[in-house]
Amino acid sequence: MLCDACQSALEARLDGELAADEAREIDRHLATCPACARQFATLGETRRLVSENAMRYTAPDVLKARIRGAVARAATPPVAADTRRKTFRWWREVAAGVAIAIASSAVTFVAARHSEATYAAADELLASHIRSLMPGHLTDVPSTEQHTVKPWFNGRVDLSPAVPNLDKAGFPLVGGRADYIRGRVVPVVVYARRRHMINVYAWPSSSPGGAPPNDLSRNGYHFVMWRSGGIEYWAVSDLNAAELHAFVAMFVAAH
Ligand SMILES: [Zn+2]
Repeated sequence: MLCDACQSALEARLDGELAADEAREIDRHLATCPACARQFATLGETRRLVSENAMRYTAPDVLKARIRGAVARAATPPVAADTRRKTFRWWREVAAGVAIAIASSAVTFVAARHSEATYAAADELLASHIRSLMPGHLTDVPSTEQHTVKPWFNGRVDLSPAVPNLDKAGFPLVGGRADYIRGRVVPVVVYARRRHMINVYAWPSSSPGGAPPNDLSRNGYHFVMWRSGGIEYWAVSDLNAAELHAFVAMFVAAH
């Protein structure tokens, strides 16, 4: 079995959706392939952390409605003989297409209060944020420990992002991942607030000095950006704007 085939079936294996012979084939590969076994362990750990903290993500109603619409319009639904895994993956492809369509149509509706570059960044970050909420995409290093997440970025990205502990303020750390944004690999630190995820992106700032938090919204998602220590940070979430501002104020105060 090839690694690609194995990795595309890991979520279905975790969910117990595979036929017995398929599951055995995956398990055989996992026993001999450290890379796939590691990915399987990470996937399981992310699931465990998210469910333990009762932070199961629910898509906003608008997005759900649009995804349902896209699924209903699809010309050839999967035939009954297909495995549930195939149905699941087909559904996810539709969902990903819808998410990217929403993200790219968003630019039409915003007022000209920020620079073109800022809107372009927001578009990319919105697509990345929505992608991150699909199963298995949220974290590369699932952990509630800042001393685990911060060193994980060493050697993976070219800057060391702030990873403050905001547990007491009600924003538990969920983990970190490396993401590809604006033509470079950037660190993303993930926090939670109830069922809402907050992705905090960081990259080297083009301007020196600091800048106080500034915000924009689109499609029910909120963005807050600020500069500190030569790094530009963006927090992205579907959390309400007031709580996202409170989160950023505490993040800034803590690092
Ligand atoms: Zn493998």
